[in-house]
Amino acid sequence: MVMFFKYIVQVNVLENPFLDSTLIIVCQPKKEKQDKIFKSIASQALGIASGAYELALQYSKERKVFGKEISKHQAIAFKLADIATEIEAARHLCMKAAWDKDQHNNYDLSGAMAKLYAAEMAMRVTVEAVQIHGGYGFVKEYHVERLMRDAKITQIYEGTSEIQKIVISRSVLRD
Ligand SMILES: Cc1cc2nc3c(=O)[nH]c(=O)nc-3n(C[C@H](O)[C@H](O)[C@H](O)COP(=O)(O)OP(=O)(O)OC[C@H]3O[C@@H](n4cnc5c(N)ncnc54)[C@H](O)[C@@H]3O)c2cc1C
Repeated sequence: MVMFFKYIVQVNVLENPFLDSTLIIVCQPKKEKQDKIFKSIASQALGIASGAYELALQYSKERKVFGKEISKHQAIAFKLADIATEIEAARHLCMKAAWDKDQHNNYDLSGAMAKLYAAEMAMRVTVEAVQIHGGYGFVKEYHVERLMRDAKITQIYEGTSEIQKIVISRSVLRD
């Protein structure tokens, strides 16, 4: 259990916002396929989203418009609240899949849910992180644009989001 929890925490771009998430893929241990889906890609998506959140949070406390930091404008504060909540939800799904794996439970469903939710969440979160950065979010110097592109691939490889939904719906309809 510790190993999976540790892995999820480790794949976190926060610790190094300059780390390209493609490097994370290379660093991932090659194990069985389903492990890779939930542990590597779901946690990769989690790390990408967390990194984008940290960058957006930091920027929102620095950038001032209309006489105050943008974090003090409710529209931005609410975006940050939504992002933090979504990241936490994805983290719990990843933990559940890791727990199922450690308990030797079947984790096809929890793994697919973790992968689907984390990937979709990462896409939403990185788009919002770019939005919080305004025009600077669009330029390479601020890194969130790269995280937005990196988030996209997590919806595609190791089973697209549509394929994860097939897995989940089959399981739901079987019950
Ligand atoms: C950067 C990158 C790295 C990659 N690395 C690897 C790798 O290491 N190993 C590897 O094997 N592959 C790798 N891939 C390939 C990747 O796994 C595939 O691109 C992915 O599985 C989608 O397959 P596809 O591109 O053939 O899309 P398609 O299967 O043609 O899908 C196109 C669209 O149709 C949807 N779709 C497909 N089937 C269904 C269905 N039955 N019902 C509903 N919708 C459906 C898909 O969700 C998608 O939206 C990589 C791809 C990229 C971009």
